[in-house]
Order: sequence, then C-alpha cells, then structure tokens
Amino acid sequence: MKASRFFVSTLKEAPADAEVASHRLMMRAGMIKKLGTGIYTYMPMGLRVIRKVEAIVREEMNRAGAIELTMPVVQPAEFWQETGRFEKMGPELLRIKDRHDRDFVIQPTSEEVVTDIARQEIRSYKQLPKNFYQIQTKFRDERRPRFGLMRGREFIMKDAYSFDRDLDAAKASYQIMAQAYRNIFDRFGLRYRAVAADSGAIGGDLSEEFQVIAATGEDAIVYCPDSNYAANMEKAEALAPAGPRPAAAKALEKTPTPGKSTCADVAELLGVPLSTTIKSLVLATDIVDEAGNPKGSQVWLLLLRGDHDMNEIKVSKVPGLDQGFRFATLAEIDEHFGCKPGYLGPLNLKKPVKLVADREAAVLADWITGANEVDFHMTGVNWGRDLPEPEIVADLRNVVAGDASPDGKGVLAIERGIEVGHVFVLGTKYSKDMNATYLDEGGKPQFLEMGCYGIGITRLPAAAIEQNHDERGIIWPDALAPFTVVVCPIGMDRSPEVKVAAEALYEELLAKGVDVLLDDRGERPGAMFADWELIGVPHRVVISDRGLKEGQLEYQHRRDTAATKVPSAGIADFIAGKL
Ligand code: ATP
Ligand code: MG
Ligand code: MG
Ligand code: MG
Repeated sequence: MKASRFFVSTLKEAPADAEVASHRLMMRAGMIKKLGTGIYTYMPMGLRVIRKVEAIVREEMNRAGAIELTMPVVQPAEFWQETGRFEKMGPELLRIKDRHDRDFVIQPTSEEVVTDIARQEIRSYKQLPKNFYQIQTKFRDERRPRFGLMRGREFIMKDAYSFDRDLDAAKASYQIMAQAYRNIFDRFGLRYRAVAADSGAIGGDLSEEFQVIAATGEDAIVYCPDSNYAANMEKAEALAPAGPRPAAAKALEKTPTPGKSTCADVAELLGVPLSTTIKSLVLATDIVDEAGNPKGSQVWLLLLRGDHDMNEIKVSKVPGLDQGFRFATLAEIDEHFGCKPGYLGPLNLKKPVKLVADREAAVLADWITGANEVDFHMTGVNWGRDLPEPEIVADLRNVVAGDASPDGKGVLAIERGIEVGHVFVLGTKYSKDMNATYLDEGGKPQFLEMGCYGIGITRLPAAAIEQNHDERGIIWPDALAPFTVVVCPIGMDRSPEVKVAAEALYEELLAKGVDVLLDDRGERPGAMFADWELIGVPHRVVISDRGLKEGQLEYQHRRDTAATKVPSAGIADFIAGKL
C-alpha cells in the first residue's frame, strides 16, 4: 500500500471522553470515529487491524472443524419468545418494530437462531457433532458503554455454537474450542490467561474466559502463581470457604486511618491502580469470638472523593457513627448494601438503611447528602437525589490476595483482565426450549447438547493496545498491525535516488508477501515518524540520501530506542528475518 492512496488521518489530541489509552490512541491514530454513544465507524486504518483479527480467528476456527455461516442481525422476536429471552432479557436487548408493528431484536448473540437452524437441519446422530460460527455485528444496549471499542454498543463478535449427542461429546467439542482459543490468543502475541468462569446452572468446569492482562481491565482475576489455578472473581468467590477469612481480615487490619491515609495506601489496600475510579467503598471485617466462631462484622464506610484521580481522595469513617455503631452480620451487609464485604464500588442500597439504628441512619444520610462530591445511588431511599445507576469499578469481595488457593498449592494473587473470549457448555437449555432434537441409533428423539463460544473481535485490538503502548503511541504485535513494515523515504520528491530505492524496497517486500506501506506523502521526517509511531507500525525502514551514499539504510523496531544501520543490499532479507 502507498500512503498517498490510503487514508492516514491522525490527531494531536484525543477527545475528552477518552479515558483509557486504547480509546485515546485509536481515536488519535484515526482508527475509529465516533458516530454515537458506543457506536463507531471502523476507519480504514482500524479496519485493517480488525480484518487481521478476523483472519486469524477464521483460520483457527476452520482448522478446529467449525463451519462458517452468517445469521441475520435483525431477528424476529418469535424465536426469542420461544426461549423467554425476549421478555427476560433486560434493556441490553435492543427491541425494534417493523412497519407492521411486529417485534424484532438486533442480535446481541444468536443462540435462538442457530438452534432454529439445528432443529430443522440436524435429524440424525450421524450428522453430529456440528459447530457453526459467524463473525458478525452484534448490538447490546450496554448500561455504560465506554472505552471506545472496549465496551461498545455495536461491535463485532465471533460466535460459535456446537451441537452434540450427549454431554460427554459436548465436553469434547468444548475442549476443541478451548484449544482453538489458546492457538488464537497465542498467535495474537498477547499476555493472557484462561480463567475458570461460572457456568451458571450446569456446574463443573465448563466455562472459561480468556482474559488479556491489563491494569485497566474491568474484571478481577484470581490465580495462583505456583500452580495453574485461575478463575474470575465470581467463580473464585463461589469456591471460597465460608466463615472467617484470615487473609481478608489481615487486609482489613491495614484499613487506612480516617483522614490520614494517602491515596497510595488505599490503592495498595484494594489492590487497584492509583488511577481507578472509585466512588465509595464498604469494607467489613469479621469479628470472631475466642473459639474462632464468627460473631459479626464491623463495617467501614469509606467515601472516596474525586472521580478519576485518587489524588483528591479522602478516606473517612462516617463521623457520628464511631460510637454506638453496632456490628452487623455479613448477611445484613449483603442484604442492605447489596454487596459483599470488601466490595469496592458505589453503594447500591437495596433497601432503606436498617443496618444501623435510626439515629445513626439519620447521621449517615446527612453525612452522605452533605458530601457533595460523592455520587450515591440509593434505591428505595429518598434522600432527595436522583442519581444514575452505579458503576461497579472493582469488586474484591470475599477473595483477597494471600488467601490459600483452592488446589492447596500456594496462595492467591489478583490481577486485572479484559475479557476477550468466552467458552461455555450450554447443555440442553436452548434445545429444550425450542424442541431441537436428533434421532439416536434407536430412532429415539434426543435433545441436542450445545456449547457456545465468543470472541470480542473489535474488543481485541483495544485490549492489545492497553497492553502494548508507550507515550508515543501504539506498539502492535506483528500479527495485529495495520501494516507490518513502513518504508519512510526522506526527501523523496527532491532525490530521485531515494525515490528509486524506496520503490524498489517496497516492491521487493511486497513480492515477499510482507504487508508493507510506503509513505510517499512527502511529509517532513518528524511528522512522518510521529504518525507511524502513533499508529504503531512495528517495523520501520528509513531511506535517506546520506544513508544511500554510505550504502546503508536505517531499521528500527517500534520498541527500539535507536535505529540500526543495515547495508541497503540486504535490507529486504534483513526485514523478512525479523518477521
Ligand atoms: P462483558 O462481561 O465484558 O460484558 P460478556 O460476558 O457480556 O462480556 P459474552 O456474552 O461472553 O460477553 O460475549 C462474548 C465476547 O464478546 C466477550 O468475551 C467480549 O470479548 C465480547 N463483548 C461482549 N460485550 C461487548 C461489548 N459491549 N463491546 C465489545 N465486545 C464485547
Ligand atoms: Mg456483558
Ligand atoms: Mg463477562
Ligand atoms: Mg462472557
């Protein structure tokens, strides 16, 4: 590709609503353009990255025996009524009507439609197993779309659905997909972890999430550095032993001193980066009697000021509640605050506060409503403020770093991740609801056993950037880069030698199958380098008159701090050797 014929459009500044690096950099590099909340155009530069993601996913899905099809984006509601999801799913499901007043949905996922296909097409056990997949636009009316492509409303997902004769066969299909996912994420060149996830009603180890490790990730993941135990927080919590948790209590011993602790203390206590958005926090410590039996818990309410920056945060124990603040049980905390001890995020009171005595409730209410910086959402309590839905920033709950790992092989650590993939055994939920059966050897109808497997195609580039960037811009792994190599000629318009050498190298690399871009726009070197560093092309060759006279070109990897001189004769092979 020649830059003059392509579309390069970079920005000096990111829009104010871009809170994380990937969002800022994708906007600045001209990869995406916002059309509405959570709705983006994939601009030519961004689309090249998305297509690379798709190509790898498609190749590995095909290799694993999955079969590609494309299902409609707009789906008649009747299928969604069969499974009850038309009514049951919340506002995330976008419902629309046609001119005849008939209901439709925009697919957030496609279990219903694929199950409809299976019940029509799969008749006999001889046709099993089958795994259908698509790479398609999805729409989810997310409560809080944010971070650009990371949590969009319209996005692209690869979704696959397996059909099997029984649970054992479904588990085998699941294992094939889990392995295909490992191959895919290995090829992307990202640091990731496959973590056990809650598989809902089915139980067992039948659901895993693929999490790209990044401090800005929305999910907390729990793992044991000394074994291969890894789970998302929900799953880890479900496995955590009931009763007093020594590690949690220990963490709470470090509870910051009201009014005195620094932001760094709080961040360390919570195990979150300093930049985390925190609005409030409920911590509780188990109180045990001499015999070690739980007697209750002491609740701390920490109100953290400031939205995006913990530097302004002040930690307080609610004044007036120090005295006569009775101990609550964990069940009470759960019931009244709708959260677990150690919960980090805005308070979402499920019920009017009865956790504390009336007098204390009044003090609490006054204090909260007096603290203007604090953004509280309270359901069922009218304290004169109509506040938006709370955002759960992080959730440490019952499992904290230092707890013994469930496999007994060490202690747990916690890090943050971005969910880029999810594999799941569904069982017969959809096939029963929609009566999707096949005939077994005895000619008897049996419900199809299903699995589903998603990859966030458009979330993936954002996750890759969170993991790979610096102050100058994006640093793409080779597999995802919009162009793998950029050839930057200096003074191409003035020097015929430079022009000839640049075009020759460009042609030679193209002939080797290298995804190369020749920057023939005639930009000054500073601006040209800044563009490609922002866009994140991993390999750069600079061709200048001076270099040519010495018989040398300059090569620099995006991560290198300085260029390397390479004899111009062998440059194409030198670059091919780097890829
Ligand atoms: P999340 O927990 O982030 O909301 P999810 O569990 O709801 O994701 P799944 O239903 O498992 O998502 O969908 C499969 C994949 O689709 C996810 O692993 C994620 O990579 C991607 N995905 C889900 N929601 C979005 C979104 N709003 N924007 C971009 N990608 C998304
Ligand atoms: Mg979701
Ligand atoms: Mg999820
Ligand atoms: Mg998921």
